Amino acid sequence: MHEYVASLMETVKAKNPSEPEFHQAVQEVAESLVPVIERHPEYRSAALLERMVEPERVLMFRVPWMDDDGQIHVNRGFRIEMNSALGPYKGGLRFHPSVNLGILKFLAFEQVFKNSLTTLPMGGGKGGSDFNPKGRSDVEVMRFCQSFMTELHRHIGANTDVPAGDIGVGGREIGYLFGQYKRLANEFTGVLTGKGLNWGGSLIRPEATGYGAVYFAREMLKTRDDSLEGKVCLVSGSGNVAQYAVEKLLEFGARPVTLSDSSGYIYDEAGIDKEKLAFVMQLKNTRRGRISEYAEQYAGSVYTESDATESDNPLWAHGADCAFPCATQNEISEEDAATLLANGVSLVSEGANMPTVAGGVQRFVEAGILFAPGKAANAGGVAVSGLEMAQNSMRYSWHREEVDERLQMIMADIHEACIKASDRFGTPGNYVNGANIAGFLKVADSMIDQGLV
Ligand code: NDP
Repeated sequence: MHEYVASLMETVKAKNPSEPEFHQAVQEVAESLVPVIERHPEYRSAALLERMVEPERVLMFRVPWMDDDGQIHVNRGFRIEMNSALGPYKGGLRFHPSVNLGILKFLAFEQVFKNSLTTLPMGGGKGGSDFNPKGRSDVEVMRFCQSFMTELHRHIGANTDVPAGDIGVGGREIGYLFGQYKRLANEFTGVLTGKGLNWGGSLIRPEATGYGAVYFAREMLKTRDDSLEGKVCLVSGSGNVAQYAVEKLLEFGARPVTLSDSSGYIYDEAGIDKEKLAFVMQLKNTRRGRISEYAEQYAGSVYTESDATESDNPLWAHGADCAFPCATQNEISEEDAATLLANGVSLVSEGANMPTVAGGVQRFVEAGILFAPGKAANAGGVAVSGLEMAQNSMRYSWHREEVDERLQMIMADIHEACIKASDRFGTPGNYVNGANIAGFLKVADSMIDQGLV
């Protein structure tokens, strides 16, 4: 390990113990930046990375709420305001029992670089709670969201910090959160994105992350005179990102064959077509059921329960051309990465944040496949959130086609920025380095401009 990365990581680990995901995210970025720091010692003397790994502010608060039986629960709420060099803090809220400070810090750190890549004026943040919405009634979810926002509202604002959705936070939760914010602040502003279309939301926002990951894949394939037409694709997850990745893959003539949730995955060799996708959307977004029901509905598909004790996930062992991990962090182990490569997968576009462990990323990069890291491939979601903020400021809404065109343009621009930065710093075709370097440079130069704050 380079001496600069080693000393940075020693400090990061000492100051942030028990936060392995945060360490993983920082180390990947720091390693990518070695050629930049060597060529530009001014970044090192300005202690830019040392400043970037320290959140500008961390909020942690109690969220008490009552269930339908009158029982009291206490969850923990968080907001990490990581970096505001480029604009108001921006990043999603995650409601999942696995949420803790370290996971949100990794996500907030990634978000800073991702938002920089979008070219829109957004700083980076992330938040959420260890609340588990699964199995809770709508009213329980509403009570929780209202309690969460009762504290959070003092810290956010359309020009300060603009949260959005993430795992466990979709249209329903954003609605309850927005309602409570409006009531407390007595103002109707674009303080959250992912809003409903009737009250300030943007067309294409729900689709944006999944579509964006597929648009990015299309750009990567273009560099090899190839396309998604006829490609067999493994997709994980079955939530917001996975659903719209599948929709766009179908539009581009690909054949998605898998989907998953935290209980297991389905494999459908014939392909998940439009009708089957509509079933999944109904199942997941309205009935809030399990993906196992897909196999009960469609003969020829197979459901496999997940086994957390295993170091590999059999979803990644099916023969395919491309993989779109769209569930959660570290869902592709090093073993899975080796299997994907052995089976001839030549493109991985990360819809989720950091879904591949560090050793897996290294294998993909060394194999020279088209590998798009999450901070580039899934930036479409926050990009359209940025466009939602722009529309809210204008008090105006763009047509679907207009937003989609902008999204495609932004994804193509991010692709171009990654290619240019990886070329410029001596690792052509390495999208990991490209994304980290391009994202870093804009934030770093802005921080220098703004002085030691
Ligand atoms: P959703 O809550 O809509 O869906 C998440 C999906 O992943 C569900 O199918 C869920 O299964 C599964 N999942 C969640 N946690 C685990 C776990 N620990 N193990 C296995 N499966 C799991 O979230 P999104 O689709 O919005 O988010 C998916 C990923 O995309 C996340 O990494 C998120 O950070 C990232 N992302 C999302 C953006 C957005 O705009 N929504 C933007 C950029 C990135 P189950 O139903 O069983 O919980």
